[in-house]
Amino acid sequence: SDTLEQSDPDVFDAVRKELGRQQNEIELIASENIVSRAVLEAQGSVLTNKYAEGYPGRRYYGGCEFVDIAENLAIDRARELFGCEFANVQPSSGSQANQAVMMALAKPGDTLLGMSLDAGGHLTHGAKPNMSGKWFNAVQYGLDLETGLIDYDQVEELAMEHKPTIIVCGGSAYSRQIDFERFRAIADKSGAVLWCDMAHFAGLVAGGQHPSPFPHADVVTTTTHKTLRGPRAGMVLTNHEAIAKKINSAVFPGLQGGPLMHAVAGKAVAFGEALKPAYKSYMRQVVENANVLAETLVGHGFAIVSGGTDTHLMLVDLRPKNLTGKDSEKSLGRAGITCNKNGVPNDPQKPMVTSGIRLGTPAATTRGFGTDEFREVGNLIAEVLDGLSQANDPEGNARIEAAVKEKVEALTARFPIYPHLG
Ligand code: PLP
Repeated sequence: SDTLEQSDPDVFDAVRKELGRQQNEIELIASENIVSRAVLEAQGSVLTNKYAEGYPGRRYYGGCEFVDIAENLAIDRARELFGCEFANVQPSSGSQANQAVMMALAKPGDTLLGMSLDAGGHLTHGAKPNMSGKWFNAVQYGLDLETGLIDYDQVEELAMEHKPTIIVCGGSAYSRQIDFERFRAIADKSGAVLWCDMAHFAGLVAGGQHPSPFPHADVVTTTTHKTLRGPRAGMVLTNHEAIAKKINSAVFPGLQGGPLMHAVAGKAVAFGEALKPAYKSYMRQVVENANVLAETLVGHGFAIVSGGTDTHLMLVDLRPKNLTGKDSEKSLGRAGITCNKNGVPNDPQKPMVTSGIRLGTPAATTRGFGTDEFREVGNLIAEVLDGLSQANDPEGNARIEAAVKEKVEALTARFPIYPHLG
């Protein structure tokens, strides 16, 4: 039968251009990564054809004996990777994994205590426009503005005042290790369930670069496509059988019908990769690279929220350079460096403008960048943004952007990705 190129040249062209973008640009979006050829293959497999409502050995459809193998592998490997008893690997995204926790462990109208979006939390932790903020009484904690760290005293005060059903820790733009023991103590004192959303740092936990939320958290969710370097999807983990049963019912039939079995197979492959020694070295390198990038930027006069990073990401405060996140993201993008604008604590700018950018090292580390390359990346970012700052006009930095783009292309050419795709 026809190839994609023959049958649908328009979609083929979009895919080909996206491949070129990934190959030739430096990817610094902290939530992205570059999956292996094996993960790509599992995801592009015939498993996409299969309906498999239910769980391995207990399906509502016939012909599930082979997809059961893939799902059991994903479950067993997830349990081994995170040292826990139960894994539900069916959520199709991080948000769906989080919805499953809320559906399983709370009722609409209950109180949910989570980190606010502008402090680095996630939409699904109680933000107003999200279901978590609309269907629950969402109370939000933030950062200590002096240190840039989670304000644990505020978490405790809010928990004692509002007696939440669930407390959630974990975020999307928080660059420091989370004190799970403190969260556990607060949850015990206030009578809440403790949920950790480790979507961003799951790979660091798996690779021994971040404390594990177990045994402190009652339930843990994650995406599988960020530091974990698997398919775009989610999962839920726990050590409690009673919670596991409720989560299974919440995922199916509570929220989903047929799971994406090609993605489940992709998760099995990615977890298998993460269990290998090479993954530990990869995660060590990710954190080392983040430190070097932060130091290099500080050397160029940028401020990093909380002063640095313990993880794969950092939040750069652009106010010392009089730049906005919006203009900086665009200028860096024209120079072949991809990142996202991000609010900083107490940001004076609107959410679509912001005073910060979020940078992460997982994707470029996957393609082989080490500390030398990340020092160069830091220098290139400074070249572009100092140019932008001095140009005094968001469009006036074209010469520097073009010069940096050439250097970016030379750098990425030394570390090719997906050569088999052309
Ligand atoms: N939780 C956290 C902490 C995240 O950072 C994200 C995504 O950025 C999610 C959940 C949601 O994942 P998804 O985009 O797969 O729904």
